Amino acid sequence: MRRWNGWIDEGAEPPAVASGAVRLLEAEIGPGAPPRDATLGEVVASLGASALADEAGLSIDPVDRIRHARGQSLPDWIALRSGRLGRVPDAIVRPATSGDVRGILELGRRRGAALIPFGGGTSVVGGVMPDLDDDRPSIVVATELLTGLHGLDETSGLATFGAGTLGPDVEAALGPHGLTLGHLPQSWERSTIGGWVATRSAGQQSLGFGRIEELFAGGRLEAPAGSMVLPPHPASAAGPDLRQLVLGSEGRFGILTETIVRVGPKPRVEAVPSWVLGEWPRAVDAARDIARARLPLSMVRLSTPIETATTLALAGEGRGVRALRAYLRFRRVGPEPCLLLVAASGDEKLVELAVREVGSIVRRHGGTGIGGSPGRQWLRSRFQVPDLRDALWELGYAIDTLETAVDWSRLPDLAADLGRTLRHGLDDVGERVHAFSHLSHVYPSGSSLYATYVFRLAADPDETLDRWRRLKDAASEVIVRHGGTISHQHGVGRDHRRWLAGEKGELGLGVLRDVSARLDPDRMMNPGVLLTDARDERSGRR
Ligand SMILES: Cc1cc2nc3c(=O)[nH]c(=O)nc-3n(C[C@H](O)[C@H](O)[C@H](O)COP(=O)(O)OP(=O)(O)OC[C@H]3O[C@@H](n4cnc5c(N)ncnc54)[C@H](O)[C@@H]3O)c2cc1C
Repeated sequence: MRRWNGWIDEGAEPPAVASGAVRLLEAEIGPGAPPRDATLGEVVASLGASALADEAGLSIDPVDRIRHARGQSLPDWIALRSGRLGRVPDAIVRPATSGDVRGILELGRRRGAALIPFGGGTSVVGGVMPDLDDDRPSIVVATELLTGLHGLDETSGLATFGAGTLGPDVEAALGPHGLTLGHLPQSWERSTIGGWVATRSAGQQSLGFGRIEELFAGGRLEAPAGSMVLPPHPASAAGPDLRQLVLGSEGRFGILTETIVRVGPKPRVEAVPSWVLGEWPRAVDAARDIARARLPLSMVRLSTPIETATTLALAGEGRGVRALRAYLRFRRVGPEPCLLLVAASGDEKLVELAVREVGSIVRRHGGTGIGGSPGRQWLRSRFQVPDLRDALWELGYAIDTLETAVDWSRLPDLAADLGRTLRHGLDDVGERVHAFSHLSHVYPSGSSLYATYVFRLAADPDETLDRWRRLKDAASEVIVRHGGTISHQHGVGRDHRRWLAGEKGELGLGVLRDVSARLDPDRMMNPGVLLTDARDERSGRR
């Protein structure tokens, strides 16, 4: 079970951070001083009574309420670690069927409560917390019993899963049939299929397997106004696609209870070769050419020079890393090496062909192959990297990520501006920031840009939150100014809501509010997320 105030398992030790990485951080941003975390006992002791009674399957157990109070954003972490949680849900309920969900919607209406759908609770945008401005009691609807493979049509490649099914359970159910969904976000082990749909998530290998919006074929949404069944047509010209309304609805339109997804044969071979290119502009050109070549690849991941240096520092000083450094010096790769990882999944011949073609594109841009070892290391540790958040926190550092997608023509300026903005975002308060990024998903017309930034925790959690807010606001302004989307994969939640109007336009946002009002007339679903806060909506202010 995930620890109540972090990412790693309860009782597990955070991984050791390589000494080279600690030295790098100390040199870049100064030594960290870990703050004292609140204990679970202290938070339980300070918890107010629930506004709801222990009835109709509602759990008002204090620990249960605390465990469902927040997601995984940095503000969530600051609240959990400091014990300053603000509001905590009044109750948790665990439906096992769509019928149970209908009963809960009715109960919520009768009690005048707000309902918060909760999958894996891995939201990094403030998607699963009670609205601070909403004075109604709040009930978390945990989907952990809405699980399992409910149907498999192997002929059509369609699998029906309970929306609360976790990533590993999805693949475990499909594996014996030689099938895969192939949707592997970095949070895969702890996030759910319903959560992926509700947030329009992207898997690490979405280039080959498709983003969740391509995989989501249909399902069932239980909205306060009624049930919406989405049939899994292979394609349809019957008016606007209602699936697109459910995708990214972040719990505002109802609770997804069943998801029908498109599954395919498990690839026979998976190769993750790697290359290094000598400078960022040429590396970006190479990534663009690879994306345009429309090869059967499942991932193209290009790190900036700073991310490449950080990755090497994190990898430690083992023989492999020393040999790689020596090889890069020998080949005179520079001045600023950029690591390129490419995954190809499928039949042997196709994979071989794709890798060969990538190699020739990279060589045209001055890059050199460095073999399969970085790729194998990436495959081994792909789901463990987030454990570093716990480790760095205990060294006194906060680490957070943000992401966008933008046209190729605007990417170089956006990337440069974003890096500068993050690195200097705390100059005013005399703090430095270590920031680096990579292209995580490439498309023929543009790319995502995924930035990671590390800064020191302050002794006062409010001060740490203020540092985060300065960085987040400044970075979001840069993203919007350069024409990027406010989110390529994490969704909107609370943290990106402010920037949504710029992207959707007031009319577009109004349409979404009207849909919400039609499906949820009492505005009980996940208030404060995606659209303006519940109080504004109920008072007619938009
Ligand atoms: C370490 C880490 C790595 C991550 N890596 C990735 C990544 O690679 N790609 C990516 O896209 N995202 C990533 N994320 C973000 C997050 O994992 C995704 O947004 C994920 O899709 C959320 O799924 P969940 O089951 O945890 O949903 P939750 O966090 O529980 O909920 C997310 C939102 O969806 C709503 N919701 C959940 N279930 C339902 C349902 N059944 N019906 C209606 N609404 C529902 C919630 O109310 C909330 O608004 C990462 C997060 C972390 C912490």
